[in-house]
Amino acid sequence: MIVEMRAGSTSAEIDDVVERAKSLGLEVQLNLGTERTVVAILGSNTGQLPTETFAVLPGVDSVTRIMKPYKLASREFKSENSTVSVNGIEIGGKQIVIIAGPCAVENETQINEAARLVQEAGAHILRGGAFKPRTSPFSFQGLEKTGLELLAQVREKFGIPVITEVVDPHDVGLISKYADILQVGSRNMQNFALLNSIGKSKCPVVLKRGFSCTVTEWLTAADYLLAGGNNQVILCERGIRTFEDSARFSLDICSIPVIKRFSHLPIIVDPSHAAGHHLMVPSLAKAALAAGADGLLIEVHPNPKEALVDGLQSLSPANFTKLMTELEPIAKSIDRHI
Ligand code: PEP
Ligand code: MN
Repeated sequence: MIVEMRAGSTSAEIDDVVERAKSLGLEVQLNLGTERTVVAILGSNTGQLPTETFAVLPGVDSVTRIMKPYKLASREFKSENSTVSVNGIEIGGKQIVIIAGPCAVENETQINEAARLVQEAGAHILRGGAFKPRTSPFSFQGLEKTGLELLAQVREKFGIPVITEVVDPHDVGLISKYADILQVGSRNMQNFALLNSIGKSKCPVVLKRGFSCTVTEWLTAADYLLAGGNNQVILCERGIRTFEDSARFSLDICSIPVIKRFSHLPIIVDPSHAAGHHLMVPSLAKAALAAGADGLLIEVHPNPKEALVDGLQSLSPANFTKLMTELEPIAKSIDRHI
């Protein structure tokens, strides 16, 4: 249930709404907008509660039921776009934010080279997995803590923020010490213990779409993070599984305008895992920008042929540099910049 306060309602009036909800055993989340405050009333039995419970209180403008399963990620709760700030880089604003780097941190030379070259080409944030969720237990699982230390080293050396994946709820505290953004991978989008743990942290988080999940399930998963108190949430479309098998996944370009319509959260796109092949990555990256994505997450490796993970879909330094120059005019044509 969403309680919209009148413009200029007093803090005592807002407190009254909060107190009434709490006295009924319900949770609340406030959106202190620039013009008016919105109070989300959350709980499993709000459906049974008459809207008058809150409509009669002074300062209340309207009370609406949200029929969708997600509440805090919805436009009804927050009509203005949210932005997430990472070391002064704003994700969800006019700037298109480019995150690039290897699938996995492999060794000191590789991650140093990667940081240097993506930064030189104009990327804003470095990616690199230290804990890799692999489909097979026999595949390279990442350097784990050593990988985090290497990421922290290059972050310091190049002054570039880093994003890395968390696969275990118990590692959230550790990884947030080394990373500027936590990544929840596609295979973990509905790992609710992990989402709850990240919800309690204040670290920005990229929530990748589960490849078998609907947009509604994705936004409802985002509610776990938001309900925990972490409002630094960025969504990432990375392709879904369909009957089509000519690419690794089917990039759901539609989800970009759909998210923009139904949610206030910023959305970035990972064209690499959708394409599965570096030849298709530039086209998908350009399509994503044109469709309104707030940023891109692209796999780039100093030497893709030698990559331990996802080499085929990783852009070479030269191809990444070329793509960056091709993205600029697209950003400009939609009144944005890189
Ligand atoms: C990755 O970003 O390297 C990754 C494993 O992606 P996804 O979770 O989208 O498969
Ligand atoms: Mn990868």
